[in-house]
Amino acid sequence: AKMAGKNCYRFYSRTMDLAIERRVRMEHDLRGAWDRGELSLVYQPIYRTRDRVLVGAEALLRWNHPEDGAVAPSVFIDVAEQSGLIENIGLLALRNACAEAASWPVPPGAGEPPFVSVNVSARQLGSGDLLRQVAGALQQSGLAPERLHLELTETAVISDEANAVALLGRLRQLGVKVWLDDFGTGYSSLSHLRRVQADGLKIDRSFITDLLRDPDDLALTSAIIAMAHSMGVTVVAEGVERVGQFDLLRERDCDLVQGYWLGHPQSGQEFTALLG
Ligand code: C2E
Ligand code: CA
Ligand code: CA
Ligand code: CA
Repeated sequence: AKMAGKNCYRFYSRTMDLAIERRVRMEHDLRGAWDRGELSLVYQPIYRTRDRVLVGAEALLRWNHPEDGAVAPSVFIDVAEQSGLIENIGLLALRNACAEAASWPVPPGAGEPPFVSVNVSARQLGSGDLLRQVAGALQQSGLAPERLHLELTETAVISDEANAVALLGRLRQLGVKVWLDDFGTGYSSLSHLRRVQADGLKIDRSFITDLLRDPDDLALTSAIIAMAHSMGVTVVAEGVERVGQFDLLRERDCDLVQGYWLGHPQSGQEFTALLG
């Protein structure tokens, strides 16, 4: 028994070493990945539900590793957050997304050029530098502030709410729109939505996936939409993969939709071609 225990211990320790080794290597490779041209942004179209007019896009990071190929964002964003590298990578993403969006034309039927939605991590929110960085990115690109949307997760906002609320207030004074991402998965509450004064919320994909089969998910989604509208908050549903989900969301008055059924994340060049 003693031997088995010892082997067991060795086994776990070795597995852990490998996991740590992988993370350390990834962190090392991620440093300077942008300068080597391995990181890029793709843009996923966002449509107005009512008439399916293209109104915006979410900028999403991609990492093409020289040996491993495409690394899942869920994996490398996590490493970037843990190591603090996200502060720099996030800033580069912000600047590039603004520069790209500044040249987008008005799509047919939209009346105005599309907005660009940029993800902001908790680390960036807490860095104390976000306001200056956003103002700088807007100034350098010439992008109208109203066309920049910042997506923050509820958990990021809650972890330091007093500070976050003050900062988000200043960002909104600049004219930038604040969106709560992955809504419904955290400690979503009416009072929270109110304090943050979010302009919009994104219903998490996990609610949309089963929308046609799970009455609870449909009830929750409908309740979130009604609640948001009563407060003048815009609602996006993400992860729309089928026409049935789209039809149901339109029936329930969801403002905007995003998902594979409407369009995949694509290069800036491809997205610009969509607008013509
Ligand atoms: P997220 O912010 O919730 O982004 C939406 C994710 O859902 C994206 O995954 C997108 O490709 C995916 N998606 C869109 N439509 C569909 C659909 O119809 N079906 C399914 N199954 N998936 C869909 P992606 O690009 O892998 O990004 C994963 C996460 O990585 C993002 O989740 C976000 O949390 C993070 N991320 C990506 N780019 C950035 C960034 O620039 N900064 C920060 N801080 N986080 C980022
Ligand atoms: Ca997002
Ligand atoms: Ca999301
Ligand atoms: Ca469900």
